[in-house]
Amino acid sequence: MAKIIIKKELCKSCSLCISVCPKKILVLDDKLNKLGFLPVKVVNEKECIGCQMCVLMCPEACIEIYQDE
Ligand code: SF4
Ligand code: SF4
Repeated sequence: MAKIIIKKELCKSCSLCISVCPKKILVLDDKLNKLGFLPVKVVNEKECIGCQMCVLMCPEACIEIYQDE
């Protein structure tokens, strides 16, 4: 299991992270951030395999993944 941190205020709703996540656990939230975008949120963090695909794809550097020891 990995810990996912999303800086919601930086997200621009491009959905690139959603499209590459092999576990399909990232979705757009239903509440706008301060930039006026719907930020990404995690629906089932326990399913995350820590592959870092979302981190690599995000052009805004919104996502950080930490592997549990
Ligand atoms: S690290 Fe991999 S499994 Fe976890 S949210 Fe990102 S893309 Fe999905
Ligand atoms: S890739 Fe980054 S900016 Fe794009 S939706 Fe995902 S978290 Fe937001």
